[in-house]
Amino acid sequence: DDVIAFEGARIVYPGGAVAVEGLDLTVRRHELMVLVGPSGCGKSTTLRMVNRLVELTSGRVLVEGDDVARTDPVALRRRIGYVIQHVGLFPHRTVAQNVGTVPSLLGWSRERTRERTAELLDLVGLEPATYARRYPHQLSGGERQRVGVARALAADPPVLLMDEPFGAVDPIGRRRLQEEFWRIQRRVGTTVIFVTHDVDEAVKLGDRVVVMSKGGHVEQVADAVTLLAR
Ligand code: ADP
Ligand code: ADP
Repeated sequence: DDVIAFEGARIVYPGGAVAVEGLDLTVRRHELMVLVGPSGCGKSTTLRMVNRLVELTSGRVLVEGDDVARTDPVALRRRIGYVIQHVGLFPHRTVAQNVGTVPSLLGWSRERTRERTAELLDLVGLEPATYARRYPHQLSGGERQRVGVARALAADPPVLLMDEPFGAVDPIGRRRLQEEFWRIQRRVGTTVIFVTHDVDEAVKLGDRVVVMSKGGHVEQVADAVTLLAR
């Protein structure tokens, strides 16, 4: 059961940079797939094809069987959680309002949104009573990334895209976030593509690790144990 499929996916940026030359890859349901590779090899571009932040030059990307090029980008992004290195929380909205963004857009009732928000904050280790009414500037970097994860998961998206989500967090905080995120993903079962340039992080988190080189070339696809043995 493939949730995401890249079929000859190719991205040439305006100006002629070939970021991804032609990618064939599938991600199975409930899988946590890590893309690892050097800076500039095309990892972010690969993620951004999935939620249509970049448009394919040729080839196709399918999400749950739907060709993303034929799917309304706004509807698509409600089905796809996205967390980046400096997660852009809405600065004038509380933590709870940030987490409730997509549920509100989807027209969930206040009560249901409130319950879900509290549940998600618990899940990412932020006590709702303490954090729900704070504003982003009242949070540490690690706490902001936790809110970002909660917001991305709020409406139970089938797919979650993570782009160096813990890259700006201090090393100890990062380790804790990795462990907690791994546990959350096991529990919730969201299909994840997780981008990092940190091999340790890749090995720690990935059900499968895709090693990428410049132009989005897949050098190797391995489970973490095989990768460690090399
Ligand atoms: P990674 O995530 O692995 O660091 P990226 O996907 O960000 O790699 O970038 C892949 C290549 O595409 C790089 O050569 C980068 O300079 C280029 N690139 C990325 N974004 C743009 C853009 N908006 N316009 C032009 N070139 C870009
Ligand atoms: P307002 O009522 O002015 O919109 P609130 O901060 O009271 O602002 O609530 C905004 C959103 O945050 C609502 O969706 C609400 O259900 C949610 N919310 C507020 N407090 C909590 C809490 N302690 N736990 C979970 N959700 C909360």
